[in-house]
Amino acid sequence: MPPLNIVFLVGFIVYVTIRGFYKQRTKGNQLALSRVDGVEKALLIIVIPGGLFLPLIYLFTPWLSFADYTLPAFTPWCGTLLMIAALWLFWRSHADLGQNWSQTLEVREGHQLITHGVYRSIRHPMYASIWFWCLAQGLMLPNWLAGWYALIAFALLYFIRTPREEQMMRDIFGQQYVEYTQRTGRLLPKRAH
Ligand code: SAH
Repeated sequence: MPPLNIVFLVGFIVYVTIRGFYKQRTKGNQLALSRVDGVEKALLIIVIPGGLFLPLIYLFTPWLSFADYTLPAFTPWCGTLLMIAALWLFWRSHADLGQNWSQTLEVREGHQLITHGVYRSIRHPMYASIWFWCLAQGLMLPNWLAGWYALIAFALLYFIRTPREEQMMRDIFGQQYVEYTQRTGRLLPKRAH
């Protein structure tokens, strides 16, 4: 396997391990509210299997070789830097959300609004990290499907889910969330006026 594919694979294992670690920590949580509907389920089905399995199929089988193309030599290095940033932010956002994390549109019993750490100035640091991750994947894997499927699928999830998630948070936390949105940006820190 080429060295950069090994770098990607190591990053991929770290990514899946971070998610798995925090997922099992929230396993026993009691739900207070679920807004999981057909749209949300369809988005998860579009994003998760393709995002997980296409890179592995690309790395371990020749099945996707029809979609290979050539990337300039420097792009995988840019991808590697982005991947490191993505992994750091993915880890910090899971750590800061703690028990309040959920893979989908849910609020747990005793849910707390997190506004510290990486949530201090942006509302969706985890989604920001997934954007970085998907971009890194595209820059590191020179294959249209394994490289870019995840970015397109995640874009769909991000643009449909984020307004629905923010509505859910407003319904639960009211004025506290409204004030939080006023001092934060969605993916980038809000500029002070
Ligand atoms: N959109 C956030 C969180 C993704 S996880 C991010 O990108 O970082 C999705 C779940 O996290 C939502 O269903 C909601 O229950 C919870 N959540 C989102 N923002 C939160 C916050 N600031 N504090 C506590 N929980 C939050």
